[in-house]
Parts: sequence; C-alpha cells; structure tokens
Amino acid sequence: MIEIERIPVLSDNYVWLVHEPTSGETAVVDPAVAEPVLKAADAKGWKISQIWNTHWHPDHTGGNAEIKAATGAVITGPAAESAKIPTLDRTVAEGDTVRLGGVEGRVIDVPAHTAGHIAIHLPGEQTVFTGDTLFAMGCGRLFEGTAEQMFGNMRKLAALPDNTSVYCAHEYTLSNARYARAAEPDNRDIAARLDLVTTLRERGEATVPTTIGLERATNPFMRADSVEELAARRTAKDNF
Ligand SMILES: [Zn+2]
Repeated sequence: MIEIERIPVLSDNYVWLVHEPTSGETAVVDPAVAEPVLKAADAKGWKISQIWNTHWHPDHTGGNAEIKAATGAVITGPAAESAKIPTLDRTVAEGDTVRLGGVEGRVIDVPAHTAGHIAIHLPGEQTVFTGDTLFAMGCGRLFEGTAEQMFGNMRKLAALPDNTSVYCAHEYTLSNARYARAAEPDNRDIAARLDLVTTLRERGEATVPTTIGLERATNPFMRADSVEELAARRTAKDNF
C-alpha cells in the first residue's frame, strides 16, 4: 500500500510524493521546484529514487535537475516530449510500465494539453496521476492538441474504476466548480460539490485528490456527450 504526500508549491501547483514502504522507494510526480520537495521528503524520512513527469511544462519539470543532483533519482517522462525535457533518463508511452518497488503503474497517453502528455495509473493502488489533463471538475487547456483528443482522454479516464483516486497537478477546483454550475445548472451533484468546495477553500483546505466516480458525476468535460460539446465547454470555460 503506497503513501502519498501533497506538496503545495508556486501559486496553485500540487507536487505528489509517492512512497512504497516495502521497498522504501519514493517517486516525485511533476516537481515544479526542488527545495520544498526535498524538504518534504526529508521530513517524512523518505529517499527520493524516481521522478515522474506527466508533461514538459516548466511548472511540472522545473525541479528535475536539482532533485536528481541531490538524490540520484531516475527521471521518467513522455517519449513524445523527450526533446523538451532534456533531464529525462527514461521515456514511456501508452501501455508501458513504471515500477515503484512492488507497485506497477501503467502509462496512458492523454495528448491535448500538450502533444505528448501522459497519465500514470497504478491499478493495484486505485490511483491515477493525471497532471494537467483531468482536474477536479475540469480539464486542461488545449495548448497543443484538439477537443477530439481531449474527448478521447476523458473516455479513457472515465473507464477506470469509480473508486480510483485522481491526483491532478493544480488546485483549480473552485473556478472549475463555478463553471460546472453554469454549464449544468440542473445537476444537483454539481451544486452540492460547489458548496463543499467553496467551504473547503474558505478554510484553506485542498480539494484534491478526487475520484473517477465523482468526476463522472460532476465534471462537465468528462460528462460531455460529444466532441462538439466538449469543445464548446472548453471555449466557454476559457472565457468564463
Ligand atoms: Zn501544463
């Protein structure tokens, strides 16, 4: 059973420390920066042995070099973005396996936010790391891909078991929830979640992780019935 530690950095990024106690291995997912990550690992008594990048954006890879220099961690990231992440040691794509001690992860290609974006699913741990593709009540902006690709990503992720915990890379939930309420004004699950998220954020608490089941009920992008509907919602949210 893995343990996962949330490290809030920059204005709204979450870096995730993933610890597998049997082997003692620890992976960092999407280190925007190094120092708070190294400190958090030290505080837990965990030694970082791997870094997993979901995509090339600097707020997901900026800590790679310094963490590797400090720990010797092996860095794994998307094959299609290797030219943009010069610190990568290993490149992976759809269907490839990543291992953290005895825990096995499966790589899922989820292009659209960036052209080579990946998610990492740990089926035995009911956990998926989705970077900037699936957010709580939202999805990533379409910087390097199409609505059709993002629609396919949402279908792939929606097919994971409902009890799968979703660890995304930003605290965007309140803004997403406000848009979701506007997109689906009759959806009572969305209304209730907007209330909950508002309360949590007023208290300064995190709203991530979420679950696939919760997203299937309240995420207007995962709930879009067609590419056209997702595209219209993405444009509307960009201007919300
Ligand atoms: Zn990004």
